[in-house]
Amino acid sequence: MVGPDDVPPDPTDPLDRTRFPIDEWRLVEKHPDVSDLGTTETLFAVGNGYLGMRGNPEEGRPSEESGTYVNGFHETWQIQHAEGAYGFARVGQTIVNAPDAKVLKVYVDDEPLNLAHADLVDYERSLDFRSGLLRRRLVWRTPAGKKVQVHTTRLVSFAQRHLSVMTLDVTMLEGDAPIVISSQVINRQDGGDEYTADEEFDPRKAESLAHRVLEPQTQWCADGRILLGYRTAQSKLGIAVGVDHEMVTDNEWSAATSTEADQGKQVYRISAREGQTIHLEKLAAYHNGPSGVPVRELFDRCRRTLDRARIEGVEAVLDAQREWLEKYWANADVEVGSHPAEQQAIRWNLFQLAQASARAEVEGVPAKGVTGSGYSGHYFWDTEVYVLPFLTYTLPQAARSALRFRYLMLDAARRRAREMAQDGALFPWRTISGEEASAYYAAGTAQYHIDADISFALSKYVDATGDTDFLLEEGVDMLVETARMWADLGFFDEKGDGLFHIHSVTGPDEYTTVVNDNLFTNTMARFNLRRAAEVVQELKDRDGADYDRMVKRLELGPAETDFWLRCAEQMAIPYDDRFGVHPQDLHFLEREVWDLAATPLEKRPLLLHFHPLVLYRFQVLKQADVVLAMFLQGDQFTLAEKRANFEYYDPITTGDSSLSAVVQSIIAAEVGYSELALRYFHAGLFVDLDDRHGNTSDGVHVASTGGLWSALVNGFGGLRDHGGVISFDPRLPEPWPSLRWRMRLRQTRLTVTVTQDAIELAAEGPRVEVWVRGEQVAVPADDSVRVELTGHGPRIPGEVGDVPLIWGKPRDED
Ligand code: BGC
Repeated sequence: MVGPDDVPPDPTDPLDRTRFPIDEWRLVEKHPDVSDLGTTETLFAVGNGYLGMRGNPEEGRPSEESGTYVNGFHETWQIQHAEGAYGFARVGQTIVNAPDAKVLKVYVDDEPLNLAHADLVDYERSLDFRSGLLRRRLVWRTPAGKKVQVHTTRLVSFAQRHLSVMTLDVTMLEGDAPIVISSQVINRQDGGDEYTADEEFDPRKAESLAHRVLEPQTQWCADGRILLGYRTAQSKLGIAVGVDHEMVTDNEWSAATSTEADQGKQVYRISAREGQTIHLEKLAAYHNGPSGVPVRELFDRCRRTLDRARIEGVEAVLDAQREWLEKYWANADVEVGSHPAEQQAIRWNLFQLAQASARAEVEGVPAKGVTGSGYSGHYFWDTEVYVLPFLTYTLPQAARSALRFRYLMLDAARRRAREMAQDGALFPWRTISGEEASAYYAAGTAQYHIDADISFALSKYVDATGDTDFLLEEGVDMLVETARMWADLGFFDEKGDGLFHIHSVTGPDEYTTVVNDNLFTNTMARFNLRRAAEVVQELKDRDGADYDRMVKRLELGPAETDFWLRCAEQMAIPYDDRFGVHPQDLHFLEREVWDLAATPLEKRPLLLHFHPLVLYRFQVLKQADVVLAMFLQGDQFTLAEKRANFEYYDPITTGDSSLSAVVQSIIAAEVGYSELALRYFHAGLFVDLDDRHGNTSDGVHVASTGGLWSALVNGFGGLRDHGGVISFDPRLPEPWPSLRWRMRLRQTRLTVTVTQDAIELAAEGPRVEVWVRGEQVAVPADDSVRVELTGHGPRIPGEVGDVPLIWGKPRDED
């Protein structure tokens, strides 16, 4: 570990290193601070994609948001449109703060430990990316002047997704004292947080519901075990939480267990003697289910989870956690040579991806993972475009689960398409249950591109993993239904240019909405249509029975695929000769250009200071749109086009969305703005660690963490996977000696090491074939190859790399 004194001031390292010292495998905090409580609650949260616990102190206070989240566990409510219209989303969905099992209050001589005003002799809190453990060690001088050592740990298990384990060790360092430990489970529906989040308008926060959400169903307790069961008032979903305790100490002690409707307590009274440690283990289990599952059944599931953990023991749970993470890092780690501050931040981001998605299983990946209530716990395109590429190459099982989750929503998407007067299926812009939950259609439902994003992620997953079972049994249904939606949504302009146009849609940039021929949407839809036709053809060629079943299941007409191909081939792709760029949509370039230089910082992000109509009138972007198309559909554009588009859109892109910087970094790297690429990379790297968007307290920006992996691997590593062909054209930042990452390609684990003058590819498993700067390279089974990096050839044959790259070209901007 590098000490704070060894670290030179570095503009790319914004953290206060006296408080958060650099450690490549941990996030460490050296003193607590109530001024950024909400942020650190998010940064130190633990979770596994199913269950998440914010980094609240064990004592339960001080806190900004005492949060425990179970992915998908939500309440519904009627959306009140002042002026409604047909097809508007009617039912709101909001993730529910689950009963809090984290609380372990400590009293010495009847005085409570509370970090907001405790006299701390020593303090360290750390989140360890290898053990998956949140650890806090402190020494407290009590008001009576006695020194007490309090060590705690908390984890949410990756191996057993319903389980959390906490430990508490209290030792009197000087003197004896009566100690009380009150271990609690609290339903915080009636508030109870000390610091309430500010109530100002912010569409990114979860709405607060006026009614009592969790209705107590049943409670049970005996001998240190507590079970509480609830049902949500409107959505009627059930949840049960169970906790179990084990006390180990040579001190004399007694305990009492009790429950009420909104609280369960296990209270220990201990006559603590100096030097005699009190060791308490607390296990917590969460199970939830739909309305049909009785809460008593959920109790039984909690009991079974607790019984098993009790028999195995806490050490076994800790070992399993370490083992799980060892495997995770063997596939997911990205190393940048000799840059410890960046390395730490990279690993924190990658760790968040595991915490957001690893055990989500039959749920999606919420925009905030399970670390906070921001965006109401909803699933967006963030999953498919930002998270799935990472999962596909590092944790394919989790990628498959996320895609299956969309498959399970297909019927709801079909219904939504009907409601929107379309064929096929239209996936909701934001949802938990599968129903559209976006009350503002212009920046919600109008983002039809979600259909293509899902098809795109699905195709990349199948290409990389070879999981044709999934494709043939379920994936093909999604491809066909989304292709149908596009074919029906667009139209051939027979009286005009004869091309296939898609009107009245919104692209990724939410500062311009409901437009005609959004470039991103059209290019992604084209991909969707082509891929659906290809897969149907593949099925036809390969196996009569599978094909026949599919045709029957989907009632596929004989001419449908030809029609899709015609739509794709004739797709309108707007291009403007005057500017030499692709307009974001047909009329985008006719708008006035927003003067970002003259917009004071207090007016950012624009979405909090300007009515949407004001923004819609201008050329100003919330987030990358055309530039994202340059990445995802990169084989459809020349390098010259990518550069021209980047140069045009970059100065008018605010980056008000955290989904932007990572994409700007990738294309900046590709087209030769290497310093700028690094700057955008740092903007993404510290989105949460430095609270760059001022709302990390609402939860981790998960899309940005996934995009950060892409910025490393696709941006600097130069990986592309168009059409299933893997190619590398690295752009290593000048200050970095090397970049190494791992990726799974079917049965092979490939370790890629890029240095300033070479790339080394090492295979564990069968041989793989890739392209490096235009040359085909075979990596033999269980062997490695090294390729010198000279010049910049075209990436794959046929690609037009017609303009030489300008490395590190200085840029006329601040
Ligand atoms: C972005 C969307 C994104 C959502 C959730 C919004 O601010 O504009 O693209 O899906 O946040 O992360």
